Amino acid sequence: MIVTKEDIREVLKELDLDKKLACIHSSLKSFGYVKGGPKSIVDAFLERNYTIIVPTFSYDFEIPMFDKKNIPQQNGLSSYENHNPIEIINRYYSPSSNEIHYSMGLIPKYILSIPNRKRGNHPLNSFSAVGKKAKHYIKNQKPKNVYAPLIELYKNDGYLFLMGVDLTKATIIHYTENLTGRNLFIRWANDSEFKPISVNIGGCSDGFNNFNPYIKGIERKIMIGDSIWRIFHLKSFVKIIVDVIKSNPEITHCDNQDCIRCNDAIKGGPII
Ligand SMILES: [Zn+2]
Repeated sequence: MIVTKEDIREVLKELDLDKKLACIHSSLKSFGYVKGGPKSIVDAFLERNYTIIVPTFSYDFEIPMFDKKNIPQQNGLSSYENHNPIEIINRYYSPSSNEIHYSMGLIPKYILSIPNRKRGNHPLNSFSAVGKKAKHYIKNQKPKNVYAPLIELYKNDGYLFLMGVDLTKATIIHYTENLTGRNLFIRWANDSEFKPISVNIGGCSDGFNNFNPYIKGIERKIMIGDSIWRIFHLKSFVKIIVDVIKSNPEITHCDNQDCIRCNDAIKGGPII
């Protein structure tokens, strides 16, 4: 099946969402063939006056733990001795960079290539946005305020779009974990003066499909080409997830009972 920009514009018209604000997690492959590639999808949203936010994570900027005197406990790492991410100490992240981890997919990669896109100031877990209000949604993202773009979207009644991906891609669930009192994990990267800084990140997402039965009632499902889109009003979504985690904290755990990130998150995350 071939998907065109017009198909997507038509779907967005039919959806008729009250707020043209969307956080999009996507798999371009899930569509089948898209005429014009990711540009067609993004243009369709922009032509319908949407502001869209996507994850543009860049894990390769992570550096090893630098302060051996202040090792955080319960931080989702089994050993700091062996915590050796790619050790690139002669470079640092900047929001002007277009570097992105391949696992983010082709739509976020394309968005980074748009000249006026806005990218958040977080070396490992940046979000990027395009559209009229892009700057507003991105400006508060900082190394210690990783979910600022999602929080702003949530406050403004935005929507979560899962395009051919499941709940394990829904980063907002890490924010809801934080809302239930769990601390976010701590990792490290260089600042623009090559000084190591600590940054906050989310944990393991592999168990998030456990929430499927609870969010069915607020889910809108649409098929576009071969891609199934699931659309959620963010505030309703967060409210449900928070309530479920509070009544059953273990629900966020993945299938691996030894997963240290899941175990530490359920205990409350790093002790700070
Ligand atoms: Zn896990």
